[in-house]
Amino acid sequence: MHHFGNPNFELIRHDVVEPILLEVDQIYHLACPASPVHYKFNPVKTIKTNVVGTLNMLGLAKRVGARFLLTSTSEVYGDPLQHPQVETYWGNVNPIGVRSCYDEGKRTAETLTMDYHRGAQVEVRIARIFNTYGPRMCIDDGRVVSNFVAQALRKEPLTVYGDGKQTRSFQYVSDLVEGLMRLMEGEHIGPFNLGNPGEFTMLELANVVQETIDSNAKIEFHPNTEDDPHKRKPDITRAKEMLGWEPKISLRQGLPLMVTDFQKRIFGDQSVTAATSGTGTGTSVGST
Ligand code: UDP
Ligand code: UDP
Repeated sequence: MHHFGNPNFELIRHDVVEPILLEVDQIYHLACPASPVHYKFNPVKTIKTNVVGTLNMLGLAKRVGARFLLTSTSEVYGDPLQHPQVETYWGNVNPIGVRSCYDEGKRTAETLTMDYHRGAQVEVRIARIFNTYGPRMCIDDGRVVSNFVAQALRKEPLTVYGDGKQTRSFQYVSDLVEGLMRLMEGEHIGPFNLGNPGEFTMLELANVVQETIDSNAKIEFHPNTEDDPHKRKPDITRAKEMLGWEPKISLRQGLPLMVTDFQKRIFGDQSVTAATSGTGTGTSVGST
C-alpha cells in the first residue's frame, strides 16, 4: 500500500496458475498461502499454485532470461528426524497428509526449479524460509505469532495447540527480506535456510507474548492439528558462509515492533495509549 504513489511501482492482480506474459529481469516467486489455516482451506488450489504456478513463472523466466528465486519452506523437512535442519537433509514428509498440499507442493516447486536450471539454463535461487513474523501481517492469518499477539491485545486467552512443547524458530521479517535480496543478487543457487536459529516451545512463545503485552494473559490448551512438526530450527551455516547473512533481530526485539502495528490496526491510531495502559509491561511497547 505504501508503494502506490511510487511511479516505479506497478501492481498487477493475477493468478499465477494462469500463464502471463511480462518483461522482467528478476522474479521473486513467493505465491502461495503460507498459513496452514489458509493452505488447507483449498488444498487442490494450493498444490496447483505450487506446481502450475511455479511452472508458469519458470516458463516466464526462461522466455525472458530472468533470474528466478523460489521461496521454498522449512516444511520440506516435514517432521524432521535431524535437528537442527541442514540443507542436505532430505526431510521426513507425509505425502498423503493434510499438510502435503503445501509440503509436497513446495518440494515439487524445488524440483521444477532445478530441472529448469539444468534443462533450460534458467538462473535460479532457492530459499527455504522458516517461520517469519512482523508488522503488516494479516491479523487473522491463523499462524501462532499473529494469533498470540492479537489474542493478548484483545484480552482473549492465548490458544496453545497440543501440549505446547513443540518448537519453532521465529524470524523477523526484515531479516528475511535482507536474506532474500542477498540470495537473489549473489552467485549461489542454494537451497539456503533463511531463518532465525533461536528456538522456542509454543509455551515459551506464549510467555514472551505475556511479558511483552500482558502478564495476565491466560493460556488455553486446544487439540493440536494433524501432522504438526514437533520441532524446527534452521542450521544457517551455509547462508552465513556463502551469503554473509545472519538474522539480527531476536524475538524479544522484533515482537514489540509487531505489537505496535497490531495495536494500531486493532484499536485504531488514537487508542494505542489507552490500549496499553493498565497492562503492566504494555507501555514499553511503543518505545522499542
Ligand atoms: N509461460 C508463461 N509466461 C511466459 C512463458 C511461459 O506463463 O512468458 C508458461 C507457459 O504457458 C507454460 C509454462 O509457462 O505453460 C511453461 O513454459 P515452457 O516454455 O517451459 O513450456 P512449454 O510452454 O513449452 O510447455
Ligand atoms: N500453534 C499454536 N496456537 C495457535 C496457532 C499455532 O499453538 O494459535 C502452534 C502450532 O500447533 C504449531 C506452531 O504453533 O506447532 C506453529 O504453527 P503455525 O501455524 O504458526 O506455523 P507452522 O510452523 O505450523 O507452519
